[in-house]
Amino acid sequence: MTGLFHVGISGARGRMGRALSQVLDARADVMVAARFDRGDQPDLSLCDVVIDFSTPEASAELAAACADRGGPALVIGSTGFDADQEAVVQAAAAKIAIVRSGNFSLGVNILIGLVEHAALRLPAEDWDIEVLEAHHRHKVDAPSGTALMLGEAAAAGRGADLKDLRAPAREGLAERSPGSIGFAALRAGGIIGEHTVLFASADESLTLSHSAIDRSLFAKGAVVAAAWVRNRRPGLYDMQDVLGFRQ
Ligand code: NAP
Repeated sequence: MTGLFHVGISGARGRMGRALSQVLDARADVMVAARFDRGDQPDLSLCDVVIDFSTPEASAELAAACADRGGPALVIGSTGFDADQEAVVQAAAAKIAIVRSGNFSLGVNILIGLVEHAALRLPAEDWDIEVLEAHHRHKVDAPSGTALMLGEAAAAGRGADLKDLRAPAREGLAERSPGSIGFAALRAGGIIGEHTVLFASADESLTLSHSAIDRSLFAKGAVVAAAWVRNRRPGLYDMQDVLGFRQ
């Protein structure tokens, strides 16, 4: 579908909201119809799609509100959903189209495919998998949404669910459990987002890495998702759907 479309920005004054404003203001095919933050009462009827980088709590509330009135479609970038918030988003997706991704970058979504492929090929009895991530000092959820997506891809390569392979955060005296997938998170300064998946055997190691250089990359990906999701059938989609990577 082409033509002008109207976008709302939820979390507009935040780091991602500001990056999104810059990207949207530079596009002739998009009009920003609403910008809102905590405590605002947005007029959702003005929007074809709302792009939301706020908090999991706010995203779940917004998803429920959009579902109640039958639209607009949603693009959700917030990370760190708990089980209740997750259930609210899933229920909303029965009524409206939602794209949710822990990472809207093309590079990370390609990395996910590479990680699944490597995990499939490297025998679990010889190769350990660890996911490392680093983010800015203000990020509150750990591991990051992207680290979890990479862990899920590694687990899928091994024909398992991440919940069955995920090692608890490491501290103190304990040997590595065979076949587990470990996570390590750093929080420092202004780091936008670094992710590495380390595959290591006794004889060699393989590292697959991605670095975010400019926050606008997530905003640009979210706008691609917004253009894709408007007028889609209800459902919960992710960037693998948007980029056509899922058959
Ligand atoms: P941030 O700078 O803290 O911005 C969050 C914004 O959301 C703030 O302006 C906040 O307002 C606002 N907000 C809080 N409650 C709200 C509500 N009920 N309705 C509307 N807005 C509300 O955070 P950020 O760095 O932009 O990141 C936001 C989220 O996106 C985080 O979960 C982060 O992990 C995620 N993220 C995802 C990607 C991705 O590609 N998926 C990339 C980067 C970041 P107040 O300041 O008034 O609370």
